[in-house]
Amino acid sequence: MPADGPPFVTHEVANQVPPLEQRNLYDDNAPLIEALAREGGGWAHERAREVGAAWGADPIRWGFEANENPPKLKTFDRYGHRIDEVEFHRAWHDLMALAVAHELHSLPWTSGHDGAHVARTALYLTAAQAEGGFACPTTMTFAAVPALRAQPDVAARWEPLLTATSYDPVLRAPGEKRSALCGMAMTEKQGGSDVRANTTVARPLPGADGEYELTGHKWFCSAPMCDLFLVLAQAPEGLSCFALPRILPDGTRNAFALQRLKDKLGNRSNASSEIELHGAWAQLVGAPGRGVPTIIEMVGHTRLDCVIGTAAGMRWGVANATWHAAHRSAFGARLADQPLMRNVLADLCVEAEAATALAMRLARAYDEAEHDEHARHLKRLATAVGKYWVCKRGPGHAFEALECLGGNGYVEESGMPRLYREMPLASIWEGSGNVMALDVLRALSRGPGGAAVLGAFLDEVDAAAGGDRRLDAYAASLRDEFADTEALELRARRVVERMALALQGSLLVRHAPAAVADAFCASRLARDAGLQYGTLPPGVDVEAIVARHTPQPG
Ligand SMILES: Cc1cc2nc3c(=O)[nH]c(=O)nc-3n(C[C@H](O)[C@H](O)[C@H](O)COP(=O)(O)OP(=O)(O)OC[C@H]3O[C@@H](n4cnc5c(N)ncnc54)[C@H](O)[C@@H]3O)c2cc1C
Repeated sequence: MPADGPPFVTHEVANQVPPLEQRNLYDDNAPLIEALAREGGGWAHERAREVGAAWGADPIRWGFEANENPPKLKTFDRYGHRIDEVEFHRAWHDLMALAVAHELHSLPWTSGHDGAHVARTALYLTAAQAEGGFACPTTMTFAAVPALRAQPDVAARWEPLLTATSYDPVLRAPGEKRSALCGMAMTEKQGGSDVRANTTVARPLPGADGEYELTGHKWFCSAPMCDLFLVLAQAPEGLSCFALPRILPDGTRNAFALQRLKDKLGNRSNASSEIELHGAWAQLVGAPGRGVPTIIEMVGHTRLDCVIGTAAGMRWGVANATWHAAHRSAFGARLADQPLMRNVLADLCVEAEAATALAMRLARAYDEAEHDEHARHLKRLATAVGKYWVCKRGPGHAFEALECLGGNGYVEESGMPRLYREMPLASIWEGSGNVMALDVLRALSRGPGGAAVLGAFLDEVDAAAGGDRRLDAYAASLRDEFADTEALELRARRVVERMALALQGSLLVRHAPAAVADAFCASRLARDAGLQYGTLPPGVDVEAIVARHTPQPG
């Protein structure tokens, strides 16, 4: 027994970092605050502060609980009746209820304000830092609304429920619901990117206009406890879009059977399932045979959210990495004061700021698209470019942020492994990397329409002309990519990557502090740029960049 102190005391705990808790996730995020005002959502500032305070408190714990207690498939009740339900932990319901209360699923469809997409993006980018899983049904419900509007009678029934703000998780007849959530079922075993290969059959019900029976399977159907699904199936006229409720108007269960839940890499708080439809009742949405153009409205808004969600994850990675380095010492000095760590942190900050700027600019294009042609073209192209690039950068960013925490970052309690596992999802879902790159080429290949969207995109880049000579040179060389039509498909990723960098560079040169814009141009637009984070060249003001992004104590 030691001479002094109680038994088994070997050391004092020292040099561990205080927990990053009870933060206002919006107040901590200077680039987001600036972008909200700049892009036309300034009216939502106080609201964003409320959301930032709320999601920086209990939801962080709920995120851990919901992932430690993942959803369970309940195929049968105790008496052997088929029920096809999924049981979620209370923390999941708390997350969903707060998301719905904060209108993350609905704001642009109900607010009546200009800049409502921008406002929602700021709220979503703030909330999704706490946890990623709840974002899936939140996004799908949000994105379903514009697609459903292709069928006004169906939209009239469902839109008020899908945009309501009182969370109602009980599966029951639409007439008895206070609110509803919507999912999507497109992917089948034989193909997800190529939905034209869908084999699910839609048989028109005789004498019932627009009503069909759907039979087939779906291989990836997330959030199966949603009340409604937009489903693609082969009608006599070809692939068509349908609205399929889980519970029929008379209160009986639709013929929607859950086969199993997916054992996923991440996103474990959320359920993703394989389902079968056994003559399930559904209503046509849009024209028969026009399933892809109808559901593309949903797909487009989902892709927007993939950009926002990844920007949120990057911000959370930066918050944790800069916080840790500000409070941890090694070799006699704070990590944040050591030149090489500053370089890594600053590089991560620049990436997160570029993603945020792009997400917020993209959201403004969604706000303005209805009455502005430039915005419409920009929305078309920048959604695909941004989804490709920002989501591709996510996993590497999360890994590097995790490494800033050293061994603690590799441990679940830090939350960083969960962030890291979540990140690839946004890149795969709703158009994997290659599919997004090819989508950019598709948009560009449409004759005069293609020239117009490219023109709008390049105009947006050129809005920063004269602001930085490296950006000017980069924008000029980007034009050469399109002049050279040789092997364009083979080069598609390279071309889209360069478009994304030019757009992000333009946004940062125009709007970010000089240190951030300079770091971006020096590292992302230069010929001899390093390949890893932490390779910003000398001369970049890494101290100013890190200071801008570090959560302040208190
Ligand atoms: C967590 C999660 C949740 C999901 N939730 C849903 C959901 O709710 N509803 C739903 O319908 N789907 C859902 N999906 C499915 C997802 O949208 C598909 O997995 C995705 O679209 C890819 O389809 P696939 O898996 O069939 O891959 P494939 O289409 O077989 O693609 C495989 C690879 O080939 C590439 N590729 C495809 N075509 C080309 C080409 N022409 N040239 C070059 N490369 C190409 C792709 O980029 C990809 O990398 C979910 C997926 C995940 C991971």
